[in-house]
Amino acid sequence: MRISTNQYWVTKFGGTSVATYAAITRCINLVTNHPNVRLIVVSAPAGVTNLLIKLCQSSLSQIELIPILDEVKTKIHAILDLLKPDTAEHLHAEIRQLIKDMNRLALSLSITYNAALADELLSCGERISARLFTSVLLEQGVPADHLDARCVIKTNASFGKAEVLIPETTQQVAKLLLPKCAQHMIVTEGFIGSTADDKTTTLGRGGSDYSAALLAEAINAEILQIWTDVPGIYTVDPNLVKQAKVIKNLCFTEAAELARFGAKVLHPATVWPAIRKRIPIFVGSSFNPEAHGTWVCPTPPNHEEVELVRAIALRRHQSLLTIHSLEMLEAHGFLAKIFTLLAKHKLSIDIVTTSEVSVALTLNHAGNCREELLTSEILNELQTIGNISLSIDRNLSLVTLVGNQLHRTAGICQRIFNQLRHFNIRLICHGASAHNFCFLVDDDHADEIIKVLHAEFFENDHKLQESI
Ligand code: ADP
Ligand code: ASP
Ligand code: MG
Repeated sequence: MRISTNQYWVTKFGGTSVATYAAITRCINLVTNHPNVRLIVVSAPAGVTNLLIKLCQSSLSQIELIPILDEVKTKIHAILDLLKPDTAEHLHAEIRQLIKDMNRLALSLSITYNAALADELLSCGERISARLFTSVLLEQGVPADHLDARCVIKTNASFGKAEVLIPETTQQVAKLLLPKCAQHMIVTEGFIGSTADDKTTTLGRGGSDYSAALLAEAINAEILQIWTDVPGIYTVDPNLVKQAKVIKNLCFTEAAELARFGAKVLHPATVWPAIRKRIPIFVGSSFNPEAHGTWVCPTPPNHEEVELVRAIALRRHQSLLTIHSLEMLEAHGFLAKIFTLLAKHKLSIDIVTTSEVSVALTLNHAGNCREELLTSEILNELQTIGNISLSIDRNLSLVTLVGNQLHRTAGICQRIFNQLRHFNIRLICHGASAHNFCFLVDDDHADEIIKVLHAEFFENDHKLQESI
């Protein structure tokens, strides 16, 4: 049966789905059941990227590198050693070469840190994974080929958190990827790309979801599937609250808000390419494909029927910067100066509240988070804006309720604050969006807070409560 390009499905497998030979086999059963799956995007096997990030710390001595490198190799050999030696010899040889490259790159980085070299090292996890996956497909008799994602995903040179150049990527996909998809199944890497001069880049932690969405957009796919270790998007992280429930359907806006505010199940940028081409996203578990899963679809919520609170998200380890200056009093342009300075350092401001003489803001951690975002250089530069005092509160968590019409619903704040009466709330942000209500609390209280809020909005009969 010939499948036209607009019927292609793009299927992404996350780290746990490709962490063992048995897990890869489960993924292969999933894709061979569906002739529409033409493009498979894989992450590094679970845990590998974390180890590679450890190897990027220039403070490590050469002796300290050895156990980390050994751990990475053990994870890879646990799969490689089970492959039939004669089916995909060329791919096995490339994997062995990549293992040697990892040693060499880790050694160079321990001598001098270099962001481009760090991305080259980080890319090895996905590059090995894509070759392992293709080898298993081939030895199971499925016609398939590997395509290096760096040939098609073109980015700027912001190593660690590169921005994808959509027109260039679309052009490369049409030239190199689509003709191959017409022949057989193609396996490629998530998370990685390359600059115009072919230097390897990475898209930030969890970026494989985003890669898959960009490729789905570029080939105009019918469906994007994200297979992970949980059977869908839940009302809250199911690893934190056992009463969490799978949400069967979400609209793009709800999913985008959830991802942006910390639901790790989707990389925050994933939904945008899907929105641009109205491509439905399915999220399910490769370990339990029969379970329901979640469909994220274009349809905006019908205002008659929308549910007020759809889910709760949590983002840990936030820092709150408070800038206090009497020069703000009835002045103009003060905030502009602060924001310009932070923009110059490519810091993206997440949440802001102001009073007459002070402003408090959080910064969004991006990239591979090697370093403190607010370096002493930035803090010193901020001091030059005027006569200001700065304070930084760390170890905070951002809790967000994601839903609809939150800014127009009487009584919602009362329900939230009633549950939070025993906790200190450091900052609140409400009103800018119909879809979120967020606040900062101590990291130590975050788990308890999401449990009580989950009980309030998802475990009680709230219709009954409202009528009380
Ligand atoms: P993958 O490696 O497959 O990309 P991730 O670890 O990035 O998987 O994302 C899946 C994890 O996201 C789950 O194991 C779960 O702990 C976490 N998570 C956080 N919030 C949610 C949520 N609302 N629904 C489902 N999973 C969530
Ligand atoms: N392997 C990368 C990470 O762990 C990308 C991904 O898994 O999406 O961040
Ligand atoms: Mg992920």
